[in-house]
Amino acid sequence: MSRVLILGAGFGGLELATRLSELLLGEAQVTLIDGSDSFFFGFSKLDVLLGRCAAERVRLPYTGLALPGIEFRHELITAIDPQHRCVRTQKGSYDADFLVIALGAECHPTATADFSEGGYEYYTLAGAERLRDALPSFDGGNIVISVLGEPYKCPPAPFEGAFLLEDYFARRGLRDRVTITVTGYMGAPVPVAKEVSEPILTHLNARGITFVPKRTVCRLNTASKVAEFAEGDAIPYDLFIGIPVHRVPAVVAASGLAPDGWVPVEKTNLATQFDGVYAIGDVAAAYTAKAGVFAERAAAVVADDITARLHQTPPPPPYDGAGECFIEFGRGEVAKVCANFLSGPKPTGTLVGPSRALAAEKGEFARSRRRRWFGGLC
Ligand SMILES: Cc1cc2nc3c(=O)[nH]c(=O)nc-3n(C[C@H](O)[C@H](O)[C@H](O)COP(=O)(O)OP(=O)(O)OC[C@H]3O[C@@H](n4cnc5c(N)ncnc54)[C@H](O)[C@@H]3O)c2cc1C
Repeated sequence: MSRVLILGAGFGGLELATRLSELLLGEAQVTLIDGSDSFFFGFSKLDVLLGRCAAERVRLPYTGLALPGIEFRHELITAIDPQHRCVRTQKGSYDADFLVIALGAECHPTATADFSEGGYEYYTLAGAERLRDALPSFDGGNIVISVLGEPYKCPPAPFEGAFLLEDYFARRGLRDRVTITVTGYMGAPVPVAKEVSEPILTHLNARGITFVPKRTVCRLNTASKVAEFAEGDAIPYDLFIGIPVHRVPAVVAASGLAPDGWVPVEKTNLATQFDGVYAIGDVAAAYTAKAGVFAERAAAVVADDITARLHQTPPPPPYDGAGECFIEFGRGEVAKVCANFLSGPKPTGTLVGPSRALAAEKGEFARSRRRRWFGGLC
């Protein structure tokens, strides 16, 4: 039997394993490896931040995986040799006929001077818990939410943070004592298309949230509480929240797979330059935004490509880079960004909502993935 090795059981790896379980049961030996003991959705961090859910409640333990024919290994990957499709972990080594890198992107807070000492973030579960615990004692001042590097996961997430905090302080009766500013390198919020960024800007303005484009904070002056921009100016803060610089996991950097920071792949089928080696999701050099929905869609293409190679049938249709990402607006409302990065000459997108109906749709989106990947656990 052919051996398929999937590195990383996040959004992309879980969908890939599921689809291979459907397509190749009994025909391939599929092994899924992750160093963590549980999966959680990126957007669960918003639930933790707002105190809607404890961190332990958003974790889905891999012991609950219910995928026929898939072997899950809870092991930390320590080396990847893409040339020979050989992988080492803390516990042993694996050889593969097909190797898929789905190890995601990790946060690198120390890349921004003094951010770890003086700032908060909600891109990790621990960071979301820390910020949640700091919010109740904050009763007025300037909140600055800054995108600290390019690219970052989930382009709407800094704006979701701003809308949710605006709602939080309004509910506490403190809205007029708080200013909220979002800064970032980009020229517009969620700049996939103006049909997305313009309505988001309108909503930000209507809620009294300021967006400062084309500014990247490079240092926090924690003594004077000023965030300094690489472009030369600065912004005062009382509560600084950063979207940390992202990078590939160290094991990917050491493998030589990411010479320019991210793993380059073929646009059509996510294949790397190494035969039989693919990369999906946040770890890959972007043709799309870094988001779970794109990792999931790329996983389907790779599963179909591997199946076509094993069955010696024509390759599947090319990856279309399409996906729908939810964006929380607070006040019980959610919108969604419908984007398509690869089907036309340039990316397209629209913003639908916000509405309460879309909040319900987001809930069902999460439940459907839990059912699909974890069966009885939902
Ligand atoms: C606040 C926030 C909100 C978000 N909201 C959305 C949203 O609404 N919609 C959406 O589509 N996306 C959203 N995202 C983005 C989404 O979470 C990621 O883009 C998505 O998880 C990427 O999937 P992936 O499979 O590439 O990587 P991941 O899901 O990050 O999975 C990578 C896996 O690799 C494992 N791993 C890494 N290194 C090693 C190693 N050395 N050994 C073993 N295992 C290892 C990790 O444990 C992890 O399980 C959000 C993210 C954040 C932070």
